[in-house]
Amino acid sequence: MKFFKKLICITLCIALCAFTFSACKEEENKPDNTPTEPTIVFDSQVKNVILFIGDGMGYNHVEQSIHYFNLDRPAFLNDEIASVSTRAKNALTTDSAAAATAMATGNRVDRTEIGMHKGEILENISEIAKRAGKKVGVVTTDLLSGATPAGFSAHASDRDETMQIALSQTTSNVDLLIGRASEDFYYYNNAREDFEAQGYTFAVDEDQLIQNKNAQKLIATLDMPYSTYSPEPQPEGMQICDLLQFSIDYLTNDNGYFLMIESAYIDKFSHDNEYEKAMAEVRSMIDAIDYLYANMPADTALLITADHETGGLVEPGKTAVGGKLYASRSHTGVNVGLWGKNVKLQNVTNGCVENYFIFDICITLLNIENYKTILA
Ligand SMILES: [Zn+2]
Repeated sequence: MKFFKKLICITLCIALCAFTFSACKEEENKPDNTPTEPTIVFDSQVKNVILFIGDGMGYNHVEQSIHYFNLDRPAFLNDEIASVSTRAKNALTTDSAAAATAMATGNRVDRTEIGMHKGEILENISEIAKRAGKKVGVVTTDLLSGATPAGFSAHASDRDETMQIALSQTTSNVDLLIGRASEDFYYYNNAREDFEAQGYTFAVDEDQLIQNKNAQKLIATLDMPYSTYSPEPQPEGMQICDLLQFSIDYLTNDNGYFLMIESAYIDKFSHDNEYEKAMAEVRSMIDAIDYLYANMPADTALLITADHETGGLVEPGKTAVGGKLYASRSHTGVNVGLWGKNVKLQNVTNGCVENYFIFDICITLLNIENYKTILA
């Protein structure tokens, strides 16, 4: 049964990829993990890195959101430093697990693998940064055990092993973990005790999060609302921009920090072809980026990207087959954008990098030299 599922999935991927796949052309005939070597240009005072991931956010998601809300063109669009090939090791169309693992560990892995490949543990940037004396935050609007935050804070052979992911996160040593609560694990399987045994303060709502802003290690499982721009009535609560502000305040220290922050619902709404909700989520992310642009000190570099595109969303003014805005309900293999503030790339072959090169950029910006990844 599993085999047939895989077969169907692969067939679907091939069908989709036939018209959506593009990669870094120079890379295709090289063995995996051959690093591309653009030059990373940044000011020597940079010591903090914010990696802002819009899950499923293709170029057209950004363009459509600007069009839908009639926004001024956001400043970050002038700062594209490369387009990014997102493919997984075993598939042209990736998932959030393989994509997060590539960005977090510098290794291309199979779909559904979290910080591992074929049973081998791959050290992630959070572990490396902690060892180098930096603070680390992993923050998402998704479940904390979701594939993207997991890629930056856990090791599991499959993204569905949420118990293993949460257990792995208890010993991750990440200073700040914020995400949605997963009732099946966080409330019923001693996760709270396990985190507290590792020195974490555990917050279950926004008041507790803010009260504990000086805690040594902090985990918060929040019931977060979708974007305020969503057509649905919204509960009060922290938006992605609020999470960003809190995280920066929490993590700022003399030795620098690494923050991965994810806007997760662009992907989920795009799977459902829920255009208005997806556009609202993108707008929230654009607002948060605008906030960063207005407030970011020169010692902080910002990278904005996506793990993959979701839904084959068309450009503004165009339609897909059948007059639809979306060409699919799945991930596609098109390249995504990589924008940078206080960081640039030179000598980028064909303007494109592999997603695992984002690891190299982050490590370089954090000025970490003595590290090794387990897979060559
Ligand atoms: Zn998805």
